[in-house]
Amino acid sequence: MDFRLQPHEEALRHEVCEFLRAELGSSHNSDPAPMPPGYMPARDFELKLGAKGWLGISWPPEYGGRGRPMREQFIVDKEIALHGGNASDALTRCIIAPMIIAAANEDQRRRYLPGMARGAITACLGYSEPSAGSDFASLQTRAVRDGDDYVINGRKIWTSGAESSEYCWLAARTDGEGTKHAGVSVFMVPMDAPGVEVRPIVNLLDRAWFNEVVFEDVRVSGADRIGRENDGWRVLTSALGLERITVYRAYVHWRTVVGIVRWAKTHGDSGRAWDDALWRNRIGQLRTEYELAELLLWRAIQLHEQGVDYRAQAAMVKLFNTEFAQRLYEEAVGLMGPYGLVREDSPLAPFAGATPHNFLSAVQDTIGAGTSEVQREIIALRGLGLPRG
Ligand SMILES: Cc1cc2nc3c(=O)[nH]c(=O)nc-3n(C[C@H](O)[C@H](O)[C@H](O)COP(=O)(O)OP(=O)(O)OC[C@H]3O[C@@H](n4cnc5c(N)ncnc54)[C@H](O)[C@@H]3O)c2cc1C
Repeated sequence: MDFRLQPHEEALRHEVCEFLRAELGSSHNSDPAPMPPGYMPARDFELKLGAKGWLGISWPPEYGGRGRPMREQFIVDKEIALHGGNASDALTRCIIAPMIIAAANEDQRRRYLPGMARGAITACLGYSEPSAGSDFASLQTRAVRDGDDYVINGRKIWTSGAESSEYCWLAARTDGEGTKHAGVSVFMVPMDAPGVEVRPIVNLLDRAWFNEVVFEDVRVSGADRIGRENDGWRVLTSALGLERITVYRAYVHWRTVVGIVRWAKTHGDSGRAWDDALWRNRIGQLRTEYELAELLLWRAIQLHEQGVDYRAQAAMVKLFNTEFAQRLYEEAVGLMGPYGLVREDSPLAPFAGATPHNFLSAVQDTIGAGTSEVQREIIALRGLGLPRG
């Protein structure tokens, strides 16, 4: 694989850098900051990225995209992360939009995609339920036909960003008979529809980044169903793998990698931590792991571009990246000693409290979008061809 950027890619990267420098006043080497996970956008920033045409670079131009290779989207996303910008809305534009492009009808594509490309429409993922997480096909939320409409009843949980989304990309059961995969359909449910209730769930950081969402007699029209009735599984698997390479991106951690080097050169228990071979070894190891995380990602992007099944590679990206993040912040907290525990509301907090914040935030990464165990299972089954136990 040739890692050098082509001249037009370098020009795009440069343009994004200039915009971010002016917008955020930061560079690749600025201090890390407390950050939301890599899928929680800030709407104002999102709209500015949308106005630049940087949210749906790989989508067809008729739906607000630029028809460019996916690789260019990652070049933009990487610069945003390196400058410490808020991650752009990966759930909507990297997970839901590709499924709409692949499986929705023309009217639906035109209804949703241009707004998503502008950053004006966001949607949350209504998959998990109290008794359907890893085994998502066991979902119980029901959508029952009533004339041209459907009436939805059920409860989704851990729904990230539901509080600020216009729509829920909802998986619901439309047929109770047959195999559990066969009777599922997908809907775009307006979050302001009567009967939709969002109940915040507070996480380790005392933030409500995810929610329980209750659907009680929620009426949607047949035109809100994406794909054929009971054919939802095909819709949901039409863009598989993207979630795992877009939500958990190694480069959101880069500023911590360089930040702890700066810290080690200037701080330590007795003298500088940098003078201690043990700390130099640990930081060298983390720098190597960062590189591996990026290489895994770029290989997955390349496989995606080639149109080959890259689900095992995507699982490797998700698994390695999220476990690396936990190791990185654990070491960072250890390196900074007591300062590594000071949260963002204290003037004593190094990097505005980024270290303990990101340490706590990384805990959830090995669960969301499929647990580490599930990723290992995918690598074993799809990558290595091992038999299902
Ligand atoms: C931060 C965060 C954000 C999330 N956002 C969303 C969202 O926006 N929308 C949404 O729908 N969901 C969301 N989720 C839910 C997430 O997808 C589920 O939590 C995840 O799939 C695991 O399901 P579960 O919690 O039900 O655990 P379970 O599936 O009950 O798993 C419990 C344990 O059993 C293990 N296990 C389960 N199956 C296997 C297996 N086959 N082999 C080996 N081990 C196994 C798991 O690894 C885990 O350790 C989010 C979760 C988190 C943490």
